[in-house]
Parts: sequence; C-alpha cells; structure tokens
Amino acid sequence: MDWCVSMPKVELHAHLNGSIRNSTLLELAKELGEKGTIVFPDFEHVILKNDRSLREVFKLFDLIHMVTTDHKTITRITKEVVEDFAAENVVYLELRTTPKRNDSIGMSKRSYVEAIIEGLRSVGTSLNVNFCTNDSMKLSSKTEKKIYVRLLLSIDRRESTESAMETVNLALEMKDMGVIGIDLSGNPTVGEWKTFFPALKFAREQGLSVTLHCGEVPNPVEIQEMLEFLPGRIGHACCFEDEEWKKLKSSKIPVEICLTSNIRTETISSFDLHHFAELYKENHPIVLCTDDSGVFSTNLSNEYALASATFGIGKVEMFELARKAVDFIYAGDEVKMELNKLFESAATTMLESN
Ligand code: 5GP
Repeated sequence: MDWCVSMPKVELHAHLNGSIRNSTLLELAKELGEKGTIVFPDFEHVILKNDRSLREVFKLFDLIHMVTTDHKTITRITKEVVEDFAAENVVYLELRTTPKRNDSIGMSKRSYVEAIIEGLRSVGTSLNVNFCTNDSMKLSSKTEKKIYVRLLLSIDRRESTESAMETVNLALEMKDMGVIGIDLSGNPTVGEWKTFFPALKFAREQGLSVTLHCGEVPNPVEIQEMLEFLPGRIGHACCFEDEEWKKLKSSKIPVEICLTSNIRTETISSFDLHHFAELYKENHPIVLCTDDSGVFSTNLSNEYALASATFGIGKVEMFELARKAVDFIYAGDEVKMELNKLFESAATTMLESN
C-alpha cells in the first residue's frame, strides 16, 4: 500500500536500540566476533530468528546492548533510525531510550544521551531535523524532508528507585535539548511498579510527560494502579480484563498500539483479535506505533497497512487516524500547530489525487 508510505505519520512508541537496522546490528556483531568478544554465529542465529517470545526478546536486547553501547555506535544508530523514519514520511518522532552507564568506557547516563543528541545533529543535509525544544524554527521549508524528533528517557524495570530518579533528573537537565518525557519499560515480569512510582510522580510534578508500558502481562493490581496514576499515554494494554478496560475507557488515556510487536511476542494471538479493533470502533484515543522496528522487522507504514487490511479501514480513515495522533504528542502547542498545518496540506494533496 504505497499510500501508507506517502502519507505523513506520527511515531510515539519507538525504542532506539530496538529500532536498529538489521544490517547495522549484524555488522557490529561481526566486528565484535572478530575481536573475540562474542561468538558471532550464536549471535547471528538469534538476530535472524523471526518469532520470539517476550522473554526471548529481552534476551535479544541484552545481546543488542553488548554491541551498541559505546558513544560512537549510539550516535550512528540514532542517525540511522531518524533517517529511516523520515524516509517513510514520519514527520514527528518520539524516540525513547534507556540512558546507560558504563564506567569501563567512561559512559555516564548523561554522555549516553549526549551521544544521541550528536546523532540527531549529524543527520544528513537532505533531511531537516528539529529536535531542540526551543528550536522549532530550524525546520526550513526548502529542504525536501523534515522531521521533528523529541526524546523520552526510559526507566528499565530492573533499575532501583535511585537510578530511576537519576534518569528523571537527567531528563530535567536536558529539557532544552529535546528531552520531553519519561517512559517506564523493560521486562514486565521483572520489578515492581511501586519502585518507580516516586520518580514518575516527581517527573510529572516537574512538568515532564510520562508514558508507561502497561498490561503486557496479566497483572491486574499493577494495571489498576498505573491507570489510577493517569499517565499521559500507555503502551500496549494487551492483558486487560473487563474492570481494566472500563477504567481505561473512562480515563481516555491514549494507547500506543504496536500490532506486529504484540503478535511476534505472542502477547496477542492473532491480528484480528487485537484490541485495536474495539478501541478504534469506540473512538478511544489510539496511535499506531512500531515499538522495535529492527527487532520485529517492521516500519510504521507497514503497521498502517496491516491495520487497514486486517480491520477493513479505508485510506481516508487511516489518514484521519494518523492525523489524530498529533493530539497525543508530548511536544508543545507550537509543534502541534505546525504538524496540523502539514497534515492539512497533505489532506488537500490526497483529495486532489483521488
Ligand atoms: P533502548 O532503551 O536500549 O534504546 O531500547 C531497548 C530497551 O527498550 C529494552 O532493553 C527494553 O528495556 C525496552 N523495550 C523494548 N521493547 C520493549 C517492549 O516491547 N516491552 C517492554 N516492556 N520494554 C521494551
């Protein structure tokens, strides 16, 4: 479906290291294999495997982090990920990543995020990237492609309260450099929500937006508490029971929907049974996202095509779904206004070509 590629789109749930190009991951793994740091054939086998359980996905992330965690590589991956999203007409991207500390190579959480910002700066001249919160005029109308990028710093569920608080403080320090929010992610079977609650509450009090991975595994108590926290958005919402659906729907919390990810990790058994259908029908705020485009071999256009084909939604309605996502972005009104103008002009072009 070419129109899924050509229409403007908004991506709100993309993990940096999960969005790494397969070719880059293999290249980096081969280099480490040659140095004897890893056994490349074992690694290659894991990368090329298509279907993985949620548990295997987190094993793969540990492997990915072995090859990606140095400043130069983080800068490279950021640049490539932004270029890939822009190439398929994503016009606004909220990229999330877990700041990592690695004393052996002099990496602090701060220098990790600085390496990402360096990646945003180094994107080629054919693409105009706007990433600084107070830099919205950097988008020039002369360049062919434009993309707004904002960063969310993730707290991994393996972290302590102190470490989560450190991430929130870092996000606050880096607000002017495009960091606008906090995400809670990581293996949902690990850790307890209450560990992160103080940091998430503090983040929100200080004006940061918060999104939570919620309901990837059945955990009614945690799901209820997360919904009561009223995060700005939640990701996934796969394992909800009636009570949780009721709470979600009355709260109107927008849901970041990741179709391919949920099927690949077997969190949902088939596309046609996905909760997207019900939430869409009931006009609940939703946004289609990729989650980990590299790990799950997908892209945002593919997610739109999948939703359209599976649920029988036409081109105009899919365009409206993409446009509606602007309402749920964490960037401010000025960016929203620019995006609304951009969608308006794309709508005119689309109507003329029909
Ligand atoms: P990074 O934060 O290193 O840029 O991206 C990879 C990390 O994102 C993983 O280690 C994991 O913590 C988080 N992540 C990626 N995909 C998922 C997902 O589907 N569910 C959850 N809960 N976390 C994820």
